[in-house]
Amino acid sequence: MNPSSVKKTFNKQAEKVAFDKAHRNKINFNISKYNKSVAEGKSIYKDIELARNRAGHIKYKMVSELDKYLIEFEDNFEKNGGKVIWARDANEALKEILNIVKKHDIKSAVKSKSMTTEEIELNEMLEKNGVETLESDLGEFIVQQAGEKPYHIVTPAMHMSKEDVAALYHKKFQTEENLSPEELTLFTRKLLREKFQKADLGVTGANFLIADIGGIAVTENEGNAILSMSFPKVHIAIAGIEKIIPFVEDLDLYWPLLATYGTGQPMTVYNSIITGPKKNGEKDGPENMYVVLLDEGRTNLLALERQRQALSCIRCGACLNVCPVYKNIGGHTYNTTYSGPIGAVITPHLKDFNTYKHLSFASSLCGKCITVCPVKIPLHELLLVNRNHAIKKGNYTFMEKQSIKWSTVGMKSRKMMNLTGGKMKNALAGSFMKNTWGSRRDLPKFANKSFNEQWKEKDKE
Ligand code: SF4
Repeated sequence: MNPSSVKKTFNKQAEKVAFDKAHRNKINFNISKYNKSVAEGKSIYKDIELARNRAGHIKYKMVSELDKYLIEFEDNFEKNGGKVIWARDANEALKEILNIVKKHDIKSAVKSKSMTTEEIELNEMLEKNGVETLESDLGEFIVQQAGEKPYHIVTPAMHMSKEDVAALYHKKFQTEENLSPEELTLFTRKLLREKFQKADLGVTGANFLIADIGGIAVTENEGNAILSMSFPKVHIAIAGIEKIIPFVEDLDLYWPLLATYGTGQPMTVYNSIITGPKKNGEKDGPENMYVVLLDEGRTNLLALERQRQALSCIRCGACLNVCPVYKNIGGHTYNTTYSGPIGAVITPHLKDFNTYKHLSFASSLCGKCITVCPVKIPLHELLLVNRNHAIKKGNYTFMEKQSIKWSTVGMKSRKMMNLTGGKMKNALAGSFMKNTWGSRRDLPKFANKSFNEQWKEKDKE
């Protein structure tokens, strides 16, 4: 992909969506409901700062000792009868998954919500290989039917109103017009129930990988993940290597935090711990269970002393919901799996840095994201570190370099600053910085007389 065309498309789409009033109304409506719930959710905590500090500390410790805990997870999970697959990138993950598909003669799959499967574009690969694949999370199902990617890491269809969804169902499934959300949910449930019963493969993500018991933790509100993990004969869970936590008891801390910051609930409705395939005498569960541990650029982040902290993310989505940039330009504009502040920090490292570095510049650096992050990742600082990283790697244009160079020369010279009046300086700065400053931002204005001139005049009085 050409980095400059990726950036141009991003800017163009951002400009379009930012002035789309209907989009803004839908997002504001959905986020206002979220804000209200989160305020209630937080009120159950006696000391939420303590919980956030602990959660951040444990996750950061895990990130620093990934090698140790991932091996512990693998040993324990395989003792339980499961199989761990290490994948350096999306291609390796897809190749291994295809081998499993062939080995077990899989014809159909049901999937619960998982951003890692979005990252590796699993649906596309399965469909291409003749495996009918259906999203079973309601939000994911809606965007799949709309032929779109998830708009948000927690709420994939946040950009759609209930009327939009009713119109989509009417078009796709010839349902009656203007069905209510309850009717739409019932319709989806009936349709999915049949698919669950027939599916050969269940695919999930993992909110956490638990080292000491060799299990995965999956949290959800609809029960579709439980069905995806228990009906089909094969279960594949795909998780980023950073999802590790040391002890099963740590879920006491992470599950409520994820629920509170993700949706404002004290606890998500269904919380499952899966430690492998079904054992002798057990009725439910798959005969074979695999966990794919995905790197896909995460070790690039791990190698960077500052940015590594972003691997502590528990994907609650809170930073997206408060970000003024995300709320204005919308999730699809990023055109990446992870959007908003966390996406802007990690995507350049997970994918190609030069192609996605512009995301780290698309921020007002207001710092609101750090105030809501349950694991206290200093996102706005990491955006600055990424910007610095980009400059050090020489990722800037000729014009950017020239504008900084000549404005520094001008501003450092008293003689040059006093050479002309404010009007001329403003005109010169305006034309010189036209392309680099951005057409919708106001340049700071020069006063008619320089500070030095004003000071001299004052001295004479
Ligand atoms: S960076 Fe923090 S606020 Fe953003 S998704 Fe991750 S855990 Fe949530």
